[in-house]
Parts: sequence; structure tokens; C-alpha cells
Amino acid sequence: MCSDDSEGVGAASELDIGEPSANASPALLDELVAANHILFDQGVVDAFGHVSVRHDKRPDRFFLARNMAPGRVTLDDLVEFTLDGEPVSANGRKVYLERFIHSEIFKARPDVQAVVHSHSHSIVPLSVVSGARLRPVFHMAGFIGSGAPVFEIREVAGDATDLLISNSEIGAALAQHFTQSDIVLMRGHGSTVVGDSIKRAVYRAVYAELNARYQLQALQLGDVTFLTEGECRACVDRVEGQMQRPWELWLDKARIRCEAVPN
Ligand SMILES: [Zn+2]
Repeated sequence: MCSDDSEGVGAASELDIGEPSANASPALLDELVAANHILFDQGVVDAFGHVSVRHDKRPDRFFLARNMAPGRVTLDDLVEFTLDGEPVSANGRKVYLERFIHSEIFKARPDVQAVVHSHSHSIVPLSVVSGARLRPVFHMAGFIGSGAPVFEIREVAGDATDLLISNSEIGAALAQHFTQSDIVLMRGHGSTVVGDSIKRAVYRAVYAELNARYQLQALQLGDVTFLTEGECRACVDRVEGQMQRPWELWLDKARIRCEAVPN
């Protein structure tokens, strides 16, 4: 089993607020651990980035790993949070500074069950060029729709921040962008993608990165033909219905890598 006892750089150590809930589905928590490993193995996250899931019996709570590299997360590393971003089961462990991404999106979007935040490599260039947008170039990425909005942190917090979503005010401003899209780019930082399940959010995070790579490559060749909004809707209905197939493959692959890492 992968594990990591190191402390996170720049981590926040918070006192627990309230009592943890009982009886979250064990299968849901197993899936959250698997999502951490898959996102690392697929190159969406590295030492940074995180994935969360809403509590299956308490919609006002969610789970996120403690402050650590996603590829080394185990069940024991999962922490329960309130929708104010306060931990209820950290027991003194450090938590992610950017947990407010998750808390504020879960607050703003009751339909969202899972959130992935990453700094994946091909996405960042599309967040920093004026007029550029992440747009869908192939059928696996219909969820991008007419183009991903870009969150500009300077509009909320000025021009001298560390670009992190480190409080609920900035998190709420980011979450507002999700009223029009299931994926939002964050200028000079990365992206956040949501779904109605862990599997859908992971699927979208993997294919958002791939779409960004294809888009950057295609732009070097000439005018790019993007998917229409109708094609996007049809692709979401048809292709995302098959997300179990890549999930099983990615999980097998991630487990092989995980087992190869010595404790
Ligand atoms: Zn980040």
C-alpha cells in the first residue's frame, strides 16, 4: 500500500470544528483513494492537486485527503470537512490550503458530487494568453462546451496574491464561474473540474488535459475546427456513459504503479 508520512509544504494546521459524521459509504471512500492514485498515474496531478467527494449521507460535508501528494493517499489520510472548509476529523494533521475550492463549489452547486483541482501541464498555457480559451477539439471532451471560463484572481484579491484559493471569499468567487460551466481555468494556476460522481470528475480531468494538449498542437497547424454545442451535448450523453471502461483500466494501471513503490 502506498503511504506518505511527510508534512506538506505550506500546509495549514487547523483545529477540528464539530464532530465527524458516521457511516460514510466505505465504497465511496475507497473510490476517493482510487481517484487520487489514478489522477497521479494519468499525469493530471503531481505532488500538488487534489480530489474531493461529497459525503453520501450528509450533503453539507465532504471528504478530501490531508495535505500530501495524491499518489500516496490511503484511507487513513481522508479528512471530513464542513462546507465552510473546516476540518472535522483532521486530528491535528495539516490540510490543504486550497480546500476552499471544494467547499465553495459544493456549496454553490448542489448537483456536484466530486471536484478535481490540478495544475496539469497543457492546461496552464491556455489560462495565461489573452483571448485564448480551452475549447473542445475531440469527442471525449464535450463537457468543455462552448469554452471554459477563466478565473482571474486579481478581480477578487488584487495583484499581489500567491494565486492560491486560500480562503472562502476567493473560493466563492471561483465557484460563481461554475454556474456556466463544469470546468474553469484559473489564470496562471491550473483548472478545476466537477462531476456528479468521482468517476465522472476524474474522467473529465484526464480528458481536459488531453484536449488541451491536442488543442495546442492543432493551433500550430492552422485553423482549428472545434465541436459545436450540439456535438458537445451529444458527446456528453453518449461517450461519458462509458466512463466505467477507462476507470477500470486506469485503476489497474495505478495499482501496478502503487505496488511498485516501496514503503
Ligand atoms: Zn492549486
